Amino acid sequence: MQEFFSQENKCLSAALRWAAQQKLPRLEAQMLLLHCLGRSPQDRAWLLTHDDECLTATQAANFQALCQRRLQGEPMAYLTGEKEFFGLPLQVDKRVLDPRPDTETLGEWALELLPPASPARVADLGTGSGAIALAIQSQRPQASVTAVDASAAALEVASANAQRLQLPVQCVQSSWLEQVQGRFDLIVSNPPYIREDDPHLPALHHEPRQALTSGADGLEDIRRIATQAPAHLEAGGWLLLEHGWNQAEAVQGILQAAGFQAITSRRDLGGQWRCTGGMVWGSTQVPIQP
Ligand code: GLN
Repeated sequence: MQEFFSQENKCLSAALRWAAQQKLPRLEAQMLLLHCLGRSPQDRAWLLTHDDECLTATQAANFQALCQRRLQGEPMAYLTGEKEFFGLPLQVDKRVLDPRPDTETLGEWALELLPPASPARVADLGTGSGAIALAIQSQRPQASVTAVDASAAALEVASANAQRLQLPVQCVQSSWLEQVQGRFDLIVSNPPYIREDDPHLPALHHEPRQALTSGADGLEDIRRIATQAPAHLEAGGWLLLEHGWNQAEAVQGILQAAGFQAITSRRDLGGQWRCTGGMVWGSTQVPIQP
C-alpha cells in the first residue's frame, strides 16, 4: 500500500500492483485505472503497453478513492458511471439500480414478441436507468415505448439516457400503471422483488432500496402490476415480469389469479427461473405471435 502512495512511484504498474495487494480483482482495477485516465474501458491493451507511464497526483488520488469504494461493495457501474446493457452504453448512478445481465432475459423475451417492424405500444414499468425500454426502442425503432417510474430521480436518469442515445422513449412518472393512460401490446417490468428480510440485502445497500424490496414476501409490487395490467393491455397483449430465482411458481399463480393465459417462465443466463409472462386474451384480435 505504501509503495503506490509514496510521492516517487505513481506509474501505472505500481498502481495495479497496489490494487492487487488490496485484493481488488485485476479486471476491475484496470477498468478503474482507465476511468481515472479518461480512457475507454476497452483500452486494456493500451494499459499493458504503457505501464511505465505515470499518473498525476490527482489521478492517483482518484484511483485510490475509487478502489476503496469498490472494496466497500459499491457497484462498478456507479464508480465508472456507465454500464452496458444490450450493447447500449447507459449512464447510471445511485439514483437507479445497476442493470444486471440477468435482465437481458426479459429484454430478449420482449423482442421475440415484437416483430422487427412492429409499431407496437410497449410500456416498461419501474424503468430505472431506462435499460429495458431503451433496449427495446433501439431494436424496434417503430415501436412506441413508454418508460414508467415512480421515482422522479430515476426518470431523470432514464430520460438523460434516452436523449444521449437519441431514442424517442417517452418518460412518465407513475406508481406502476396508476397515472398511465391507454393500452399497450406489451408491458414489461423488472420490479423490486426481494423480501424485506433477505440476508443478501446488506450487500446491496449502495442501490436504492425502493428498487429492490417489496414487502414481506417480495411479491407485493408484482401483485399490484398483475392486477393493474389487464386494463392496460390490448387483447392478445403480454405482460412479462422479472422475479427472484425462487418466485416463478408464485408469480405464475398471481398471473393466473389476475386472468392471464399462456403463462410460462424462462431461465436467466445463470440457469435460474427469472421471468414469468402471460397474455390477456380477447375475442376481437389475434395475439402477437410468441
Ligand atoms: N436481481 C437483483 C438482485 O437480486 C434484484 C433486482 C430487483 O429487485 N429487481 O440483486
